[in-house]
Amino acid sequence: MIALTIDCEEWMSALVRGSKSKENYNTLFSKEGNNNLLKLLDKHNVKATFFTTGFFADREKEQIKKIYDKGHEIASHGYNHDFPYYKDGANLDSDVSKSKKAIEKIISSKIKGFRAPRMKFSYDLIRILDKNKFKYDSSLNPAFLPFVYHNNNFPIDIFKPINNLQIKEIPVAVYPNSRFPMGWVFMRNLGSWWAELGSKRLLKKRINPVLYFHSWEFRKITSKNIPIYIKLNTGEEFCSKLDHFIKKFRDQRFVTMEELI
Ligand SMILES: [Zn+2]
Repeated sequence: MIALTIDCEEWMSALVRGSKSKENYNTLFSKEGNNNLLKLLDKHNVKATFFTTGFFADREKEQIKKIYDKGHEIASHGYNHDFPYYKDGANLDSDVSKSKKAIEKIISSKIKGFRAPRMKFSYDLIRILDKNKFKYDSSLNPAFLPFVYHNNNFPIDIFKPINNLQIKEIPVAVYPNSRFPMGWVFMRNLGSWWAELGSKRLLKKRINPVLYFHSWEFRKITSKNIPIYIKLNTGEEFCSKLDHFIKKFRDQRFVTMEELI
């Protein structure tokens, strides 16, 4: 099995790089990216998991409902993407529960999963998610990449981060030995073969790859306020890379995260 997961959020890439551009906080980039992505997923009849911020969901209710009605899983990506999930003392509980309430109201159904903005996994977060009745978290990227990821001490397959709690962790896909990351910017700039080779290696070890992307990557991004690698191969180019990936794994079942746990 393979799970495709998409982080759906307000546009923050310029803001986090210090730009005060008007493009900050827009939901249009992700919305248009979702439309392109949905066409591709429909074509292959593949279901995916969309981790949406409450901020996005509240502004694009119709699209979130449409995605849910098509049979994809909707999960939470926090309420505000710029909420400091990485800072001690931040009131995580309020952002987590606010996002859950907002999203559940829109789809009229309970959600099970969570992914923190910028993949900020922490044990405090796990306790708060469990308290808020989440069944799984997918905020951990168990990758190793100097200056970026140093998570090579964590498992790469589903595990229970805290023994006496029921909540499970579903880490995103990395290369099994080297721990090279596989998702979004890496697959987009290195090519689909990069994610295909890594996924094959995981499947050989009986680990189900969890690929992750952002909605806006499936829309052509031309912003001047971000570095080139963030916008390279976005839009059509990335759609065709994912198309290639899905075709390559025709013999696999593409599942949602709730199916995976
Ligand atoms: Zn995000």
